[in-house]
Amino acid sequence: MPSTVIRNVRPLGGAAVDVVLHDGRISALLPAGSAAPELATLVDGQGQLLLPALVESHVHFDKTLWATPWRPNSAGPTRNHRISNEHTVLKDFQVPMAERAGPLIEHCIAQGSLYFRSHLDTQTVWGLKHVQEMLALREKYRHLIELQLVAFPQGGLLIAPGTLALMEQALELGVDVVGGIDPAGIDRDPIRHLEKIFELATRYRRGIDIHLHDLGELGRWEIERIADMTEAMGLQGQVVISHAYSLGAFAPAELMPLADRLAALGISIMSCAPPNVSVPPVAMLRSRGVNVCSGSDGIRDAWSPMGSGDMLERAMLMALRFGWSKDEELEMAFDVVSQGGARALNLQAYGLDVGCQANLLLLPAENIAEAVVNRSPQRTVISRGQVVAKDGIFLVA
Ligand SMILES: [Zn+2]
Repeated sequence: MPSTVIRNVRPLGGAAVDVVLHDGRISALLPAGSAAPELATLVDGQGQLLLPALVESHVHFDKTLWATPWRPNSAGPTRNHRISNEHTVLKDFQVPMAERAGPLIEHCIAQGSLYFRSHLDTQTVWGLKHVQEMLALREKYRHLIELQLVAFPQGGLLIAPGTLALMEQALELGVDVVGGIDPAGIDRDPIRHLEKIFELATRYRRGIDIHLHDLGELGRWEIERIADMTEAMGLQGQVVISHAYSLGAFAPAELMPLADRLAALGISIMSCAPPNVSVPPVAMLRSRGVNVCSGSDGIRDAWSPMGSGDMLERAMLMALRFGWSKDEELEMAFDVVSQGGARALNLQAYGLDVGCQANLLLLPAENIAEAVVNRSPQRTVISRGQVVAKDGIFLVA
């Protein structure tokens, strides 16, 4: 494949360069105006900001009602109400998952995300239906995105007999990551829940990404046990704790020993930074070396009608949640939805260096801080060296 060039763009807001692409990778970064004129121009960047494609580290594509008529949220107040409501809504629904999740994936691509980790309901009420349909969708978009799938026991692991066998089947079929959920709050047997998922992860040589909503001291105790097992099983760098609301309940000084342990074990924390619950102290965790990533969680589903799939918006919401306003704080929010996600998902060749995948986002902004604040809809998205979306429109037939 001949080389192409993106002319006159500013990586992360720095000096203008020409970016030469070859075989879907960045092959050279040259001062603006110096790339050979005979090279085909992929994009004339006109001085726009160049960013690596965004990383959506926590989403539930299989649950979405995207691309369907508006449906008023009918969920009750408790988690069990919401789970049973979701079963009712999705069972009633006549629109196949591919016609909901597919358009949502394309929409997310058009916002600039090309890396995803989607939790996938693996529970007896669905059998392997969600697993098989999402694996098919992953194949459909494999040429454009990296989509990691997590076997997620939404209804509990131990309290729902048959779920563990389904999780194993999902891993056999190609699901990438072992999920878990509230070992105490849902399964009421935290050690056994954690032993089961760590055993699966070691046997199948996969990482772990566990939903942990359990609050306060109970949640912190579970995080300590996750750290114990990560160390004992040699899963350093392979474990993500999603939500970890309990970490928001303690003063920074009380959290430091645990934060240092998470950093040493390479355990990432995923936070959507929601406004209505305690959330992990992102800046403090990062200052101790803990990696933090973020995601949309549910987008327009039976749990919540919210969500846009725009990870620049997620960075803005995180900044609002913590009252961040300085440029360096907005850059931190951006790092969470880019490099933080890349570290949590163990992405290879991510970024803007020579040799990295040419998965890129261009938009008009002076710098990263302005990109987070303005969230311009005038975005050009490049996947593996090809323009795949422009101004919010997905262009691939
Ligand atoms: Zn989730």
